[in-house]
Amino acid sequence: MLSYQHSFHAGNLADLHKHGALAWVLAYLTRKDKPLSYIETHAGRGLYDLAGPEAAKTGEAAQGIQAHADWFAADHPLTRARAATAPLYPGSPAIARHLLRDTDTLHLAELHPAEHAALISSLPRDAKVYKQDGFALAHALCPPTPRRGLMLIDPPYELRQDYTDIPRHIAKLNRAWNVGTIVLWYPILAKPAHQEMRAALLKLSDDSLCHEVHFPPARPGHGMIGSGLFVLRPPYGLSDELNRLSACFDRLT
Ligand code: SAM
Repeated sequence: MLSYQHSFHAGNLADLHKHGALAWVLAYLTRKDKPLSYIETHAGRGLYDLAGPEAAKTGEAAQGIQAHADWFAADHPLTRARAATAPLYPGSPAIARHLLRDTDTLHLAELHPAEHAALISSLPRDAKVYKQDGFALAHALCPPTPRRGLMLIDPPYELRQDYTDIPRHIAKLNRAWNVGTIVLWYPILAKPAHQEMRAALLKLSDDSLCHEVHFPPARPGHGMIGSGLFVLRPPYGLSDELNRLSACFDRLT
């Protein structure tokens, strides 16, 4: 389908949830000297102009990072990544590139031709960027070298079938890569499409968590009313950061 474009949504409240947690996990994992692999199945274009017409059209960044940058202290890794890409807003690949080290390996899949081209030009050459289906890439790479690492799965959920396919993909990835941390983002919609998927995901491993936050719809009738994260093998201390984010989102409702 490939009709979803993250430029319209970058920096929204769901991104604050996803990118805040992602940046925290990356900072945690890089505390150890050992190199790691970062794999992203649905990378987007990497950098976003929140002063551009797409962001202005939806107003989602204005309700997100432009209103709530203070949720993240000056030394929070998301704030550090934002400072590195200012005045542009960093998508997840740019956050990862900024927080990872030269010894770490980035593999990024983006299928949309224009987004893929923009992603290549937004990052240094050392990132490996693929114009390929993200799950096909993830299965081909796992277990990656280095074996330590993190995978972010952030699909656009354009097909209803995604909700049934994703637990099967993650189960297979978990079998192939039994040491990696896997983070999946999912939308919370007024119609509860995610609930069966969440139940299936939580059955995959005892070492996992789901964290959900709720917020007012971006405009009347907009379907998304919250943001969810499933984390397989969450790093120690992540729950504290997620609880901190919950308290920020609770102030919105
Ligand atoms: N992860 C990005 C971030 O947080 O900055 C946002 C990614 S956006 C939600 C999803 C992206 O997946 C879109 O850019 C879309 O073009 C891409 N996409 C859609 N289907 C894909 C597929 N099968 N494989 C790889 N990328 C795909």
